[in-house]
Amino acid sequence: MQDFSLSIRLWFRQNSRTLPWRETKDPYLIWLSEIILQQTRVDQGRAYYEKFVKHYPKVQDLASASQENVLNDWQGLGYYSRARNLHYAAQQIVEEFDGFFPQTYKEIKSLKGVGDYTAAAIASFAFDLPYAVVDGNVYRVLSRYFADATPIDSTAGKKLFAAYAKELLSQEDPGEHNQAMMELGALVCKPKNPDCDNCPVQDSCEAYRKNEMLDYPVKSKKTKVRDRYFNYLVSGNTQFQFEKREGKGIWQNMYQFPLFETKVEKSMNDLNGDLQQEFGVSAVDRIASYTHILSHQKIHAIFWKVDKVISDNDRLLHVDIERVDEYPLPRLIHRFFEEHNPEYGGN
Ligand code: SF4
Repeated sequence: MQDFSLSIRLWFRQNSRTLPWRETKDPYLIWLSEIILQQTRVDQGRAYYEKFVKHYPKVQDLASASQENVLNDWQGLGYYSRARNLHYAAQQIVEEFDGFFPQTYKEIKSLKGVGDYTAAAIASFAFDLPYAVVDGNVYRVLSRYFADATPIDSTAGKKLFAAYAKELLSQEDPGEHNQAMMELGALVCKPKNPDCDNCPVQDSCEAYRKNEMLDYPVKSKKTKVRDRYFNYLVSGNTQFQFEKREGKGIWQNMYQFPLFETKVEKSMNDLNGDLQQEFGVSAVDRIASYTHILSHQKIHAIFWKVDKVISDNDRLLHVDIERVDEYPLPRLIHRFFEEHNPEYGGN
């Protein structure tokens, strides 16, 4: 399958985007970019990549940073477990590998938050090791190129597409091959409008031959999304009460207004009975509401103005508006400040 690889690599040399993490072979920087770019668009990820390189130029800098600072720098990117894993893995590199980035696929995969895809990306981009990457873009290219309707989210599909990717991989330049596959999926073999006329493998693409490009890739299961109703209690204009999210759920160790979660959306009257019992306060105004979609949950966040501060000084912090920035906040709390409190500067 050398022709396939050669075709996409020649195309890549002429058409790829210039991206800062493509200019380096430093595994630490490649790893940073790969973690940031998971579930993030390239144009948004670029600014975060630059910020992380500036704040943590070496893995030792990241390892010795506080988790609060790392989460703060991550703010706005979502999926915060990525930031926590990044921080943990930097400490693993310092402690288990004497500060040198591991150089084998197996060792790279032993880092927290690094799965098959990221390990193959780092191994091939930084060390030219022959591991094929399979991400969403690659699944799309492969399923169309082979016109294969095996569901990409099934166990059989994962095995099959990994085998296709391996079969096509260039042994000569696996790093460039992998970058070219991903770039082809991102720029040409796009989800809704594949630009087949400008595709370097159009001649041998099965889906193109049958004019069935949009029939692939096939997915088997629909993710079940859970609705959750977060009632946030806002007790002031220039000073707020914050609580820290504990436990294993979303936004772990981040800060928020005191939260009262309900199974359904409640009117102010219905809510007030519960709030009195639980917090000794009443909602007096509905300030804002946002819907925030995560992979398995739909968060309906409602911000209520309450009539007084909650008397629970052990658990709740009192934070002045000027100091809000010092706390890592979930994106939707951040958005609330941006849109509803002009005195808040934001970052
Ligand atoms: S010819 Fe079209 S469908 Fe086939 S790989 Fe290229 S862009 Fe994708």
